[in-house]
Amino acid sequence: MIVSHQPVMVDEVIMYLITNPDGIYVDGTVGTGGHSIEICKRLGPRGALICLDVDRASIEVAKERLSPFAERVTIAKESYVELDRVLKEIGIDQVHGILLDLGMSSYQLESSGRGFSFTKNEPLDMRMDEDRGVTASDLVNKSSVERLQRLLWDYAQERWATLIARAIVEERRIQPLTSSRQLALLIEATIPAKYRPRKIHPATKTFQALRIAVNRELQNISDFLEKAPLFLVRGGRLVVISYHSLEDRLVKQAFLHWDKWDRHPRKLPVFPSEGKPAIGALQKRAYRPRQAELNGNPRARSARLRVAVRI
Ligand code: SAH
Repeated sequence: MIVSHQPVMVDEVIMYLITNPDGIYVDGTVGTGGHSIEICKRLGPRGALICLDVDRASIEVAKERLSPFAERVTIAKESYVELDRVLKEIGIDQVHGILLDLGMSSYQLESSGRGFSFTKNEPLDMRMDEDRGVTASDLVNKSSVERLQRLLWDYAQERWATLIARAIVEERRIQPLTSSRQLALLIEATIPAKYRPRKIHPATKTFQALRIAVNRELQNISDFLEKAPLFLVRGGRLVVISYHSLEDRLVKQAFLHWDKWDRHPRKLPVFPSEGKPAIGALQKRAYRPRQAELNGNPRARSARLRVAVRI
């Protein structure tokens, strides 16, 4: 069964991203197409959408779901970091808006069979792009104890990083770590019972750290943000949704340091949510999902949305 992914903060994305229905837009992380479908519905007769993702299986689902809009949609298996090359190949200089919805999709977590979830017994791969890079199992079986420890701390602030790194290295002397369940059980057995986190599975942070490392998620965001303003027309928008503080910090810092960005775009409309403006409407803080969405979509819980305008 394919678990479809419920897109996060859709109304906000549409409102902040689309300034001109006949413009050209980029969904840099199309996933299974949740946001893209909504964007397409709002485009005018001359509007166009370029969709990218590195996950081939997701791209296939997105193609199918976006087929009613095929005339105005281009879908490619490419990394958003390569947007300059992709635009050049299509013969486009600049676009009116770019969306990045970071993190991973419910499809990847639930149906990809690539070991993203500690609740499943799958090969420990975690690559979103199966055509390149090392797998999570390569990382845990080959990295030094110091590297593992640093990775768990840097990418997830796992307080048991040292203990878990040592346990991994000990375990792999007996047998290589090849499945998500094997790793999840090992971590569960490693963290002393009285310190086990109550609200989350003890393996949550380790899985997050491995996923971030395998997919070079933070490097990709930094690389992209450095060149992002160049891809936008004046007044064009970049909308980024992040799901943990490391990502959000990169986005916030990039917006602060770019003289080509208006980082406090005061002319953005204020979202009329339950009678209140959206939190952080003036961009000093990130926008958060409204309560109604939080109730219906648990994945939205950690979402933070930031908008910058090219000046
Ligand atoms: N907005 C989507 C969900 C996106 S989830 C929807 O509504 O369906 C995040 C997606 O980003 C995943 O599909 C993942 O494969 C993709 N991704 C991760 N790194 C990427 C990169 N460097 N370039 C393009 N896509 C990437």
